Amino acid sequence: AANVYYDKDIDESVLRGKKIAILGYGSQGHSQAQNLRDSGFQVIIGVRPGKSWDKAARDGFDVKSVREAAEEADVVMMLLPDERQTQVYYQDVESGLKPGNAIGFSHGFNIHFSQIVPPDFVDVFLVAPKGPGHFCRREYLNGGGVPAFVGVQQDATGQAEALVFAYAKGLGAARAGVLKTTFKEETETDLFGEQAVLMGGLTHLIQAGFETLVEAGYQPENAYFETCHEMKMLTDLIYENGLTGMRYSCSDTAKFGDFTVGPYIIDKDTKARMKKVLEDIQAGKFARNWLLENKVGRPMFNALMEKESNSELERVGRKLRKLMPFVKEGKQDSEDITEN
Ligand code: NDP
Ligand code: MG
Ligand code: MG
Repeated sequence: AANVYYDKDIDESVLRGKKIAILGYGSQGHSQAQNLRDSGFQVIIGVRPGKSWDKAARDGFDVKSVREAAEEADVVMMLLPDERQTQVYYQDVESGLKPGNAIGFSHGFNIHFSQIVPPDFVDVFLVAPKGPGHFCRREYLNGGGVPAFVGVQQDATGQAEALVFAYAKGLGAARAGVLKTTFKEETETDLFGEQAVLMGGLTHLIQAGFETLVEAGYQPENAYFETCHEMKMLTDLIYENGLTGMRYSCSDTAKFGDFTVGPYIIDKDTKARMKKVLEDIQAGKFARNWLLENKVGRPMFNALMEKESNSELERVGRKLRKLMPFVKEGKQDSEDITEN
C-alpha cells in the first residue's frame, strides 16, 4: 500500500531561499503561486502580456516574461496548458536552465510522452494536485489542502525528492496527504480517470439517462433533476462517506435498484472497453491524437465543444439553474473551467 506523507513528515528547508518561477497564471498557476507565497516561499511569475499578466500583477507578484522568469529562477514550474508547453519550453525556458536548477510539472504528459526532454543537469519533478486550482486555493485559505501526487523523473542534485516534498508542503497539499508516484503512473491514471470515469463516463451517463427519459415522453425539466441535478448531492455523500455512506442516506428501494440494475448498465463489456481505453493511453495513442488535433488547429475539439454545450440537456439545465437561486453559479473565468 502507498505511504501517505503529511506536514510533520516533511522538512521544507531545501526550498527556502530558492527562487520559484511559476510559468502561467491560470487555474493551477494562481493557486500554486499564492499558496507558496503564503507559506513563505519566494515566487515570481512568468507569463505573456495579457489577462494573466494583469491578474498576477494585481495579486502583488513580480511579473516577468517567461524567458526572464525562467532565466532568473532556481525552480521553474510549468503551469501552461499541456498542449502549449513544448513550444514555450524550447523557445523560452530551456536556455534559462542551469546546473542544479529544477523544472517541475503538475501533470506528467509532456515528460512521459517525451515532448519535453530537459537537460541532464537539472532535477525534473512532478507535483500534481488532485483538484482544480481554485479549489486548491480555497482549501488552503481555509487551513486545509488538496492531496497531491509527487514524483521525480530525474535527480541531478541528489535533493530532488526533498525538493518535491517541500514544494508539495508549500502548496498545503501535505495538510491533506502527499503520495509518491511516477510520471508514468500519474499521466496514465489521470488520463484514464478523466476519460473513462470522472468526465467522459459521467457526462455520457448523465446524457444517456436524460435522453432516455425525454425520448419516452417525460418532461425535460423532470429528467434534468432526476439524471443531473441530484448528482451533486450523491457525489458529496460519496466524497464524505464512500459508496456505503451514500447508500445509507438513500431508501432501500433505491439501494435495491442500485445493486441489481447497476451491473446491467455498467457490465463486463463496459469494463472491457475501459481496458481498451487504458491500453490506448499506455501505448501513447490518445496522446498522439491530441497532439495531432492541436497541430491542425483543433477542428474536432472546437466542433465538439460547440455541439456538447448546445445539447437539450445543457439548454434545459441553464434555464433551470437560473430559477434556483440557491444554486450559486460558479465563478468561471477561462482559468476556472479546466479540470485535471
Ligand atoms: P490554464 O489554462 O488554467 O492556464 C494557463 C496559463 O498559461 C494562463 O495563465 C495563460 O495565460 C498561460 N499561457 C498560455 N499560453 C501561454 C504562452 N504561450 N506563453 C505564456 N503563457 C501562456 O492551465 P491549468 O492551470 O489548467 O493547467 C496548467 C497545468 O496544470 C497543466 O499541466 C495541467 O495538466 C495541470 N493541472 C491542472 C489542474 C487544474 O486544476 N486545472 C489540476 C492538476 C494539474 P494567458 O492568460 O496569457 O492565456
Ligand atoms: Mg430519486
Ligand atoms: Mg488530467
